Amino acid sequence: MPRANKESSSDPAGESNTRTLKRGLKMVSFSSLLGNEALKTHLQKALSDQHISHAYLLEGPEGSGKKTAAAAFVRALFCLHPVTGPDGRYDSCGQCENCRLLDHDAFPDLALIEPEDGAKSLSAQIIRQRLVSDATVLPYKGSRKVYVVDRADLMTPEAQNALLKTIEEPPQGVTILLLCQSASLLLPTVLSRCVRLSTAPLPPSVIENVLVKKGADPSRAASLAALSQGSLGKALALFEDDNFSALRENWFHFLSSIPTMPQIEVLQKGGELFDTYASFQDQLLSLSLIWFSDLLKWKTAGDRALLVSKDYCPQIQKASSFYTDSSLIAITETIRRIGACLARNANKGLAQDLLLISFTGKDQIYW
Ligand SMILES: [Zn+2]
Repeated sequence: MPRANKESSSDPAGESNTRTLKRGLKMVSFSSLLGNEALKTHLQKALSDQHISHAYLLEGPEGSGKKTAAAAFVRALFCLHPVTGPDGRYDSCGQCENCRLLDHDAFPDLALIEPEDGAKSLSAQIIRQRLVSDATVLPYKGSRKVYVVDRADLMTPEAQNALLKTIEEPPQGVTILLLCQSASLLLPTVLSRCVRLSTAPLPPSVIENVLVKKGADPSRAASLAALSQGSLGKALALFEDDNFSALRENWFHFLSSIPTMPQIEVLQKGGELFDTYASFQDQLLSLSLIWFSDLLKWKTAGDRALLVSKDYCPQIQKASSFYTDSSLIAITETIRRIGACLARNANKGLAQDLLLISFTGKDQIYW
């Protein structure tokens, strides 16, 4: 395919927008990517063999390392003096001109394309302007250009069709990385052109270690790791969110007071907290599950080391004496079922009331 010179680009504004958006990709080395060994091995071998595909699809849950993997791959791909990293495999040097430009978001041949803030889709217009059209322009430096499309699963069918020709017959040196949470939303014609790789949830212990190194109290780190379901990104976001810190304290204080409260007060106070932290509904359910699971662990084993919320051990010990083993098992089951109902858009107020009543352990909820 003939390539235009930079000056003849028909979309200087698009290029400018793309460069601004690139700030969302924080450059790292492969050694910074935790877990995900199969993914790292594949990408580092491709780099080592100089056998780079023109399109990759990185699939995995939010915060599981897709952007970090893409950043490590991109920097190693453009690095002028690649090194053997601590893991004995191919990695970027972090020192050369290209690495430094990438680190400072000033490398011209990399574009990050993602939905605008709050947008629920990635339009054909954006894909045409920032990728399809831009890919026909020769690279500024060297012979490669890379396009990272974050939330590629939000591309409309028209956007995917607009991308198809570039993926099928990419200009020489162009590599496209599609990052998505679910490949099921991508057209088979797009999928069939990509090397498919996936990121996996991290073990809680790995997330805990990262949070502790960042200064989190070990008990809080354990809670956050349990809440984040293997997503380091989610754990870090919660760790840095002051609202979440207050939420955990207030919710655990409420849960620990339930055994001595009349049922009407449980409904009233719980309802107020659900309203106050309306945007944290998932976290309230997860914290509840952690709390009542800890109560059950204490009742059956009496071992502080087994608790997720070790900093609440005295309160857990006291509260657990008000419940039977079977009522705690029933409560944890109710939390899971209510969570599933809410995910299916059940009546929120009714679901919350049922949940709060179940927390008293006095009324079994029958399903
Ligand atoms: Zn370098």
